[in-house]
Amino acid sequence: MSDFDALQTRYQQYRQMYGLKQRRESFADWPFRDDCECTPEKMAEAGFVYNPGANDPDVAICFFCMLELEGWEPHDNPWDEHNKRSPECAFLCKMKNRDFLDLTVAEFMAFEKERLKIFMRKSFHVKMACLRDEMDKLLVKLEAMKDSLLPKEKK
Ligand SMILES: [Zn+2]
Repeated sequence: MSDFDALQTRYQQYRQMYGLKQRRESFADWPFRDDCECTPEKMAEAGFVYNPGANDPDVAICFFCMLELEGWEPHDNPWDEHNKRSPECAFLCKMKNRDFLDLTVAEFMAFEKERLKIFMRKSFHVKMACLRDEMDKLLVKLEAMKDSLLPKEKK
């Protein structure tokens, strides 16, 4: 799956993650439990969804701003970590101690519009990175072609 496909899949799936219950359920196999600051409950309250990879068993992603964090320690506070790295996240700023079910339709639509903007911005960055890679590969090919076409220097 390309980076863009993964991003698009997340964007679509995370529409279901406004609910605390859904986010909490994603942490069924989360390694940090009792006596930790980053329990499944606190991770979910801070907007995170558990998204482990084969080599990254503790990846959590904000369902809203798509901030991706790994390398969690038992004493890490999910709200603080989220706030440190993505202070503009609308979920973080407007949803603390509020339930998604309390949102009006207009508020929900405003959230979804913001989430779409974030997705579009991230998509643009992923596509630009792909384009840069392709350009670099093409440049290498063109350099090799140029070398083969130029007359060899006489010794
Ligand atoms: Zn966020």
